[in-house]
Amino acid sequence: MNLLSLPLAPPQLFQDLRVEPEEARSILRPQKDERYGFGFALSPYRGCAHGCRYCYVREYPNALHGPEDWGGWVAPKLNAPELLWSQRHRLHEARVFLASATDPYQPLERQYRLTRRCLEVLLLCPSTEVLLHTRSPLILQDLDLLRAFGDRVTVGFSIPTDDDTVRQVVEPHAPTIPGRWAAVERLAKAGIAVNLAVTPLMAVHDPQAFARRARASGAAGAWVGGLRLLKRDPFYKVLADHGWLQVLDRDYAEGIRAAFRAAFPAPRKVREPRAERVSAVAPSLARQPGLFDADVLPPLVGD
Ligand code: SF4
Repeated sequence: MNLLSLPLAPPQLFQDLRVEPEEARSILRPQKDERYGFGFALSPYRGCAHGCRYCYVREYPNALHGPEDWGGWVAPKLNAPELLWSQRHRLHEARVFLASATDPYQPLERQYRLTRRCLEVLLLCPSTEVLLHTRSPLILQDLDLLRAFGDRVTVGFSIPTDDDTVRQVVEPHAPTIPGRWAAVERLAKAGIAVNLAVTPLMAVHDPQAFARRARASGAAGAWVGGLRLLKRDPFYKVLADHGWLQVLDRDYAEGIRAAFRAAFPAPRKVREPRAERVSAVAPSLARQPGLFDADVLPPLVGD
């Protein structure tokens, strides 16, 4: 089926989510700053149903949606796989990051399979590396495909807290923490290189136990990245109301990093993205830039 030939569907409601399919004009966004460790960002969707309350992407200029609407709408890019196929000549020895401004495994991927179909295109580009970043066990539906990539794929899995009650406040529509641990374990057991992303760092109940859990999950490495707040960010009040302002404290982040250093005494380097690392644990390319190392790297702007 050629999706390019499909007419654009009108916006539709999907369990209170407004689904607004669209035809993208471009799909590969070049990243010239080598510090990010990849050459292109690829987002099969605009918007993100996870709607994390700290997500800086909500503030990106958007003609149709304001920041307060973040998480309430998603625009699947119906022609993303075909567009990517037409651009494959640009991908020789390139690293492609999915995704800079959305989660490639948000719930709609179950129906639309745009991430999967983009991965199928990338699989046919033998010199191309793929860096996936997600919060969702839905990635397991593509386990067969990820295995087919061999060492050309790295998965970054975000688990920013060890406490699901914290997650329920800061990422109310994202998968549970236990579900994420189970997914990391399955990926690792399947031989997929997984790096755990404690990013952006949220309130942690037991740093040592958290770090040991990460180690036991089979993740090849982990890193701890700080939260970046926007000017007059309403998320500050969320943190203040819950007594979690310590997450803005560098010493607090250092304490968590120390726990992870102890749990990963000899971290295996999956790949080295750049010489100097913000994170203290293990380097990873599979990061979601801007959220995690915002004190060093400027945010990405979505397609
Ligand atoms: S932080 Fe990631 S998963 Fe959460 S809303 Fe933003 S893009 Fe989606």
